[in-house]
Amino acid sequence: MTPEQKPDKDKAEKLSEWKEELPVIPLRNMVVFPQMIVPLFIGRSKSIKALEDTMEKEKMVVFVTQKSEEIEEPTAKDISSIGTLSEIVQLLSLPDGTTKILVEGISRVKIEKITQDAPYFRAKINRIEEPEGMTIEAETLVRNVIKNFEKYVKLNKRIPPETLMSIINVDQPGRLADLIASYLTLKVDEKQAILESVSAEKRLKKLLEILDKEVEILEVEKKLQGKVRKQIEKVQKEYYLKEKLRAIQEELGEETEGEDEDQPELGEYKKKLETAKLPPEVKEICVKELDRLKKMPSMVAEATVIRTYLDWLLELPWKKKTKSKFDINEVRKILNEDHYGLEKVKERIVEYFAVLQLTGKIGSTILCLVGPPGVGKTSIASSIARAMGRKFIRVSLGGVRDEAEIRGHRRTYVGAMPGRVIQSIHKVGVGNPVFLLDEIDKLGADFRGDPASALLEVLDPEQNKEFSDHYLEVPFDLSDVFFITTANQQDPIPRPLRDRMEIIEMSGYTEQEKLEISKGYLINKELEKHGLKKDQVEFLDESIQFMIREYTREAGVRSLERSIATVLRKIATEIVSGDKKEKVKVNKALTEKYLGAPKYHFGLAEETDVIGVATGLAWTEVGGDTIPVEVTTMKGRGTLTITGQLGDVMQESAKAAMSYVRSKADELGLDEGFYRKYDIHIHVPEGATPKDGPSAGITIATALTSALSGIPIRRDVAMTGEITLRGKVLPIGGIKEKFLAAHRAGIRNIIYPFENKKDLEEIRKELPSDLKFYPVKEMDEVLKVALVKMPAASKSKEKKTEEKETPQRKSPPSIEGQMFT
Ligand code: ADP
Repeated sequence: MTPEQKPDKDKAEKLSEWKEELPVIPLRNMVVFPQMIVPLFIGRSKSIKALEDTMEKEKMVVFVTQKSEEIEEPTAKDISSIGTLSEIVQLLSLPDGTTKILVEGISRVKIEKITQDAPYFRAKINRIEEPEGMTIEAETLVRNVIKNFEKYVKLNKRIPPETLMSIINVDQPGRLADLIASYLTLKVDEKQAILESVSAEKRLKKLLEILDKEVEILEVEKKLQGKVRKQIEKVQKEYYLKEKLRAIQEELGEETEGEDEDQPELGEYKKKLETAKLPPEVKEICVKELDRLKKMPSMVAEATVIRTYLDWLLELPWKKKTKSKFDINEVRKILNEDHYGLEKVKERIVEYFAVLQLTGKIGSTILCLVGPPGVGKTSIASSIARAMGRKFIRVSLGGVRDEAEIRGHRRTYVGAMPGRVIQSIHKVGVGNPVFLLDEIDKLGADFRGDPASALLEVLDPEQNKEFSDHYLEVPFDLSDVFFITTANQQDPIPRPLRDRMEIIEMSGYTEQEKLEISKGYLINKELEKHGLKKDQVEFLDESIQFMIREYTREAGVRSLERSIATVLRKIATEIVSGDKKEKVKVNKALTEKYLGAPKYHFGLAEETDVIGVATGLAWTEVGGDTIPVEVTTMKGRGTLTITGQLGDVMQESAKAAMSYVRSKADELGLDEGFYRKYDIHIHVPEGATPKDGPSAGITIATALTSALSGIPIRRDVAMTGEITLRGKVLPIGGIKEKFLAAHRAGIRNIIYPFENKKDLEEIRKELPSDLKFYPVKEMDEVLKVALVKMPAASKSKEKKTEEKETPQRKSPPSIEGQMFT
């Protein structure tokens, strides 16, 4: 929309013909100046109505600018009070409903009073007289404005140079200002300010200010552009010259010295290359890369890539090793020094070292410590490092899904780096550390390749002598690294990896063991970490037990360690601030003061025996846990609902339990058609944790029987076992963790599959002595122990079996010859 200067005489002379009251049209982001002809698009229906009306009569409107362009329906207070009286020269209705008009600005007007709001604005207006003629001040201003406008046009490519000619011919200073203002790309409020300046001098001054600022901005922009261009030209020129020089050198078959001057780091690399102990093939690569770097301008991106690559090659410990030893006595001594209990684990490790000492070969099998968090896996590995006199490094593989994380990215990738193995070796600075690969059961795999196979290469003694990292491109010898791996569970470890490993299982601790570990190790370690001495703080047994029972619920001792640290931190603060002078004896009350209200309830979950709720035992990667299984029945049509995020196997096991109960309805004294009359809902709470596995079978069947017969389940009994359709109880895994979890939850009676009896015998000594065990072969036996009383068989059955009322029991029955305590 370029405004055009109106060539003919001032139409304002015809003012007497115009009415004093005219339609007003608000404009969003435009200012119409007097004497200009501008095209406008009008879209708002209110404005179109105003146009239609005026076209039939006076063909005049007043254009005013809105104070904010966002307002869709401006009211009288949203529009400026000074506008431009304009004549509609042409009107064209477009097919999209908008109207295009050509208007000619006539004169500045003041809106005195809005006389009508709808269907469009009308207002009483007053023409603003503009003084004519040229004063001295105006003349000076005009000259300056024209000078600056010339500069502006030169710098701004969007204004055609001919514009200047049309400006010079204007003799009215006020009109000149309006004309220039309409050419500039200004903000609406700046334009409006010029429209509102009535005297020519004032208008010109404002314009001069604006022009000064605009010219300055344009000049800075131009300077910047020039600088950037020069920079690019310089790099290109350098590159070109260097290439040329290289070509000349090649032609002459000679090498020139002297490039080092502008790349001082080249000298440093050379020095490093001489002092670093590198294998010959690595040295060769470094020399080649250094040569490439020399011939490259230091600014190009590729030079940075080469420099990073050289840094890696020069800094890796290709030959650097710590002196180390295999001495089983030392290993035994240090493992005992650092850890309480764990006899079997320690013995297995000592045996492993005995073989190492004899064969002198490491790596044929890799140690893999499997167990829940906080049972001392990392700490055993670091003790092994200490016993061998080697450095220790740990890398977690949890969530690694990309092969490149193990083996690195090729150098062609932007920001490529070696994989975690080489990075760790670089960090530890020697080629023979004890290297702990944590959580190998959490390795993932996706389209980016399988990290497990890369890991296999890392661990395989046949291959790891020449481990190839994609980034390094030269093989690195990992055969002297002593790898140890850890996992929370065995099953998810990829099969080929598992075959390479010697699995050592570590299980959770009993309350007694946790107490000993705290007293013998954790507290001392934390005291030292907090800069405290034994004669300053003492933990009473009652406080440790309180923390174990009511602030933690875990298989290991990690949270316990953290709780001890919290207490010590608070005590340290008190000692430093002078509040505590004598030795602090941490008892139960003080523990609660420091740790806040207990997090867990110790003891049985339920106050009384409940109908339809049985306690099952689960085995997860963080150790064992108790899980309640709830069943309710409602009048209905036999729908079975199972909720609580159960996996497929657990769902099937629920259905098997249901079928068992149905087939035994008679014997259990249940209404035969119960499954047609009731809706049954099985729910395993804590829905956020996905649960799976068959071992909840007997728990679900017990809860179902209780819910249907109305007989409560004993709250101090927990159970685990798979169920068949005929009610046989099948063996399950993870018994130690499960039984420890039951004990943690305050339960002392445990029903478990008879076939697991030999497993229990093996670990009986490691379990708390107050647990009572009930091995079972059939579901009947489960119900006998778990239900408060046995359900009476229904009438039809009673005739066949001898009628006998099962007495209500307070304590569980002892099953002759089967009870195992
Ligand atoms: P994990 O690696 O199995 O998750 P950590 O090795 O990190 O467990 O053990 C957590 C903390 O408990 C460590 O400070 C560790 O020294 C300590 N700890 C675990 N088991 C024992 C133990 N049997 N004797 C002494 N300290 C132990």
